[in-house]
Amino acid sequence: MGLLVVKFGGTSVGSADAIRQAAAITAGLTADHGRVVCVVSAMSGVTDQLLRGVRSATGGDAVTSQQIASVLLDRHRSAALECGMITSDGMVEVERLAGEFVALCQSVAVLREATPRVIDAVASLGERMSVHLVAGALKAIGADAVPVDAMGVVVTDARFGDAAPIPEETRARARARLLPILASGTIPVVTGYIGATADGAITTLGRGGSDYSAAIIGAALDADEVWIYTDVDGVMTADPRLASGARVIPVLSYSEMAELAYFGAKVLHPRTIRPAIEKGIRLRIRNTFKPEHPGTLVVTEPQPATGTVKAVTVVGNLSLITVEGRGMVGVPGIAARTFGAVARVGANVLMISQASSEQSICFVVPEPSAEPVVKALEDGLALELHRRDIDRVWSQNKIAIVSAVGAGMRGTPGVASRIFGALGQSHINIIAIAQGSSECSVSMVVAETDAHAAVRQIHDLTAGLWTPGS
Ligand code: ASP
Ligand code: MG
Repeated sequence: MGLLVVKFGGTSVGSADAIRQAAAITAGLTADHGRVVCVVSAMSGVTDQLLRGVRSATGGDAVTSQQIASVLLDRHRSAALECGMITSDGMVEVERLAGEFVALCQSVAVLREATPRVIDAVASLGERMSVHLVAGALKAIGADAVPVDAMGVVVTDARFGDAAPIPEETRARARARLLPILASGTIPVVTGYIGATADGAITTLGRGGSDYSAAIIGAALDADEVWIYTDVDGVMTADPRLASGARVIPVLSYSEMAELAYFGAKVLHPRTIRPAIEKGIRLRIRNTFKPEHPGTLVVTEPQPATGTVKAVTVVGNLSLITVEGRGMVGVPGIAARTFGAVARVGANVLMISQASSEQSICFVVPEPSAEPVVKALEDGLALELHRRDIDRVWSQNKIAIVSAVGAGMRGTPGVASRIFGALGQSHINIIAIAQGSSECSVSMVVAETDAHAAVRQIHDLTAGLWTPGS
């Protein structure tokens, strides 16, 4: 018998209507596929509200969290009522969790300090509430369902706020907890976003982490497919707000999807892909509110090179850091020391570029990291700066990365020239370029003010090259 993991995001469980829709989809899929595990996010906006509550508590304010708790309770109560929940067990539990939120915030308000561990305990509450609504809505339409806390399913390390799953332990726990439920013909409705350390401390997988939860659970259970239900039709060729002709991409390979997820197509938490690739699980992205739309299918096999560029994405609010000097040429270890310094301040590097003249290394980091990175580089390379081997370390703010993604670019000559030609014609200056050796994407650094025009130009260009259905 097949096994399917479906995940519903925040807007897909954000109202009674949405929850009823999610329940109907899940029940329908159970009839088709046999075994279905349902993973859910918190109702839209709830995680933000919980975090706002705990943040205000660190300033000694114990009132805001009480107000938030009552707003959350009202919202969950009326959704439960509208979904026709048969028993009140679920709501009793939701009330208990709201009480837990207030109690946690009160202790934070006394201590005026919230440890990462407490913040995760608070952040986990949204999903721990929403599972009761979805399970209740499933029961209301005659399906057997049970809410399950992922603390007993996903075992993680202790990096609160951005925990990583421990695969072997998660596999053992997930199978022990979920397979018997499935065997009895019941749908487990599992909290996304959260897990727990081996000794039981609640952790979260990072914001937007419910997608990742679905893939982790899918991998642990050897699922056939993981379906991510969201509020858009699938992965698009570009952000439709930027490029009017943007359309849904029917099939993508994992490597294409990975480039897209990292470079700004916000449909999927970037880490979702890894557990799915490792187990060869197909992933689908579908619209909860348009269940008949086929969405985007992500497959392990590389897709034939029928088109060249499949999609264009953009990430803004970045800085380009340059380490520059004629004395760097042929000196080993400069790159290592450069990135060592970057790592020490915990900055995330999005793109790296060095020309073979070796007279400069440049790389892109989020703008807030620029200042600490430049400082760390000035310290770490003080000797070279003093000797004038390195002339200067500087940052250029307000830049964006525009990436053209498509496995068909591999081995297709002329793609880069068409992209650069199109940008040149529109007088868009390319500050730096990087292409990974996978040839699955070309990334260009441009001024933030040019970014949207660049997306439109490249998207127009690729429209003709890209074959629908590829
Ligand atoms: N509720 C969490 C968040 O808002 C996780 C998710 O929705 O995927 O980040
Ligand atoms: Mg999401």
